[in-house]
Amino acid sequence: MSTIEQNLQAVHQGIVAAIQEAGRPAGDVALLAVSKTFGADAVLAAAQAGQRAFGENYLQEALDKIAAVAALLPRAGLEWHFIGPIQSNKTRPIAEHFDWVHTVEREKIAQRLSEQRPAGLAPLNICLQVNISGETSKSGVAPQQLRALALQVAALPHLRLRGLMAIPEPAVEFERQRAAFAQLRALYEQLRGDGLALDTLSMGMSADMRAAVVEGATIVRVGSAIFGSRNYS
Ligand SMILES: *Cc1c(COP(=O)(O)O)cnc(C)c1O
Repeated sequence: MSTIEQNLQAVHQGIVAAIQEAGRPAGDVALLAVSKTFGADAVLAAAQAGQRAFGENYLQEALDKIAAVAALLPRAGLEWHFIGPIQSNKTRPIAEHFDWVHTVEREKIAQRLSEQRPAGLAPLNICLQVNISGETSKSGVAPQQLRALALQVAALPHLRLRGLMAIPEPAVEFERQRAAFAQLRALYEQLRGDGLALDTLSMGMSADMRAAVVEGATIVRVGSAIFGSRNYS
């Protein structure tokens, strides 16, 4: 068994354990394998071990990798998620080559993604990135502006608003990790209460996956626990 396959098994076991701890239904959490900085060979190894969804942060690196993987495994049916910062002049290749975008934080970017989504493809799945309190990076919409943005994005024809995403400030203690994810979950429940048909909470990475699953994550984005440590992030 490859190291990547072993790591994937361990991550799946961790997800199952956290689901049981939370008393949630089995199979409720999807694993997004974050392959940024790793090559097509790493994606192939994970795909051969059954992994289907991959997350990428850097557009040019991602486009090269998607093409390389498609050439080697043409019918793998992989799903690509963009999870990095988005510059407005780079929306077209994102709209053309990805299935999901987790990092929408402005209406202008959403409009461009919708306009540029090719007609033959299914709507692009969208999560809004939220700047929950204590987040060190300045990315994400402020909670006060979230509802207005969600209503705008939900109305765009070639997008499908699926839910929310956040990257909380790294915290060592489990309870602090949980508190940050609980904030995102509360915002998600409010929007659902407003009638938006959301089904996705994208939260939790290698170091805080358990707390995220206990707080209701439906997608965890895991990189280093699967592929090993990176030289840059
Ligand atoms: C890199 C990255 C991840 C994965 O982080 P790990 O700590 O390697 O699991 C998840 N989400 C985003 C947005 C990232 O940039």
